[in-house]
Amino acid sequence: MTTVDQQSIPCAVCGEESRHQILLSSNQLGSPDLDLRPAKMLRSTMGMWVQCCPSCGYCNQMIATPIPNAKEIIARDNYQKTLNDEALPELVRHFRCYAMLVIEMDLEQARLAHMYAAWVCDDQNLTELARECRGSAIAILETWQPFKDKQDEIIKGAVLVDLLRRSSRFAEAQELCGQLLAYQNVPPTVISGLTFQQELINRSDTAAYTIKEAQDFADAHAAPPETVSSPDEIVDANADELAVEHVDLKRFAGIDGEYYLEKWKQIEATGKKITWNWAAFFFHFMWFAYRKMYYYAYILAGLFLIRLSLKFQFDLPWFASYLVRYFDWILLGMFGNYLYYHHARRKIVEAKLRNRNPQTRQVAIEKMGGGSGKAVIIILLALLAAILGPALIAQW
Ligand SMILES: [Zn+2]
Repeated sequence: MTTVDQQSIPCAVCGEESRHQILLSSNQLGSPDLDLRPAKMLRSTMGMWVQCCPSCGYCNQMIATPIPNAKEIIARDNYQKTLNDEALPELVRHFRCYAMLVIEMDLEQARLAHMYAAWVCDDQNLTELARECRGSAIAILETWQPFKDKQDEIIKGAVLVDLLRRSSRFAEAQELCGQLLAYQNVPPTVISGLTFQQELINRSDTAAYTIKEAQDFADAHAAPPETVSSPDEIVDANADELAVEHVDLKRFAGIDGEYYLEKWKQIEATGKKITWNWAAFFFHFMWFAYRKMYYYAYILAGLFLIRLSLKFQFDLPWFASYLVRYFDWILLGMFGNYLYYHHARRKIVEAKLRNRNPQTRQVAIEKMGGGSGKAVIIILLALLAAILGPALIAQW
């Protein structure tokens, strides 16, 4: 239920009193929209979210509250033009004026005011004007880009995706969706929201949808996780669906995902197998163990062990003897990124085959990738046992 009171309120700018409706309480029945527009009844109280002083045109949530420089901003031409623009619904004018007053001290409030204006336009089927209001909100949200991998920033990004889609800016919306879904800290509701957005973008759908509808869509498209895949299923699987995307690769690398994605994009773009990876160069088999490429790690550790027991004698200039002595370090530095790229692609396809649900897929990809300090310790202990073991046995 919504309760409202009528009050006389003095204006903080001109001091004149005027009567306004004050929202005392309201409630939400149902799910908010994807852009966080509240459900009924709160939804229909927008007329009370901004007050306008009839004497001087000051707009604020409460006109009794002052805003710095209000007098000067109200006197500006663009403010007066907006305030008196008969072509716009009155409430849209008030939200826009309020946005002008707060934009310098509170970008987030200004962004919200433009979104509220867009919702007013939605309700009156003013499509073009709604797009314009969304454009102002988008411009503000874009100043926050790139969004960090933190929940509150990801939610801002998800709202931006909705604003872009509803303004028919599908390519930008799609790109941002991909970026956000690659993050580690995306809350589950936002994952289903963004997955649903991708579907809407593919359909070029600009309508408003609720978070509940996104959730229902995610539930309807989530198959129970499959733990084992038979060869038949592999044949059945749609090749498109199994395509390895950049989002997957970055998610797989996890730690230093940006770095690896950049290197892998280079490999994809140029077809060259040689790049440079300092970690692979310095840490040799330990890097492979850390990156969970266990077969390489054990083969390389075996090589390492063999060469420990060999004595190299070369009659070569010093740099050439270094090259010969450390050729495998150098090769690993050169081919590390390439080997890791192919390992990642194989594992991602495996994860996709085993999991049909987009969310469990993402989790599986994350688990198969990333780094493992434990693996490094295990391989070092194994190596140590291999070195010391024979000596201990001999002594015993
Ligand atoms: Zn006033």
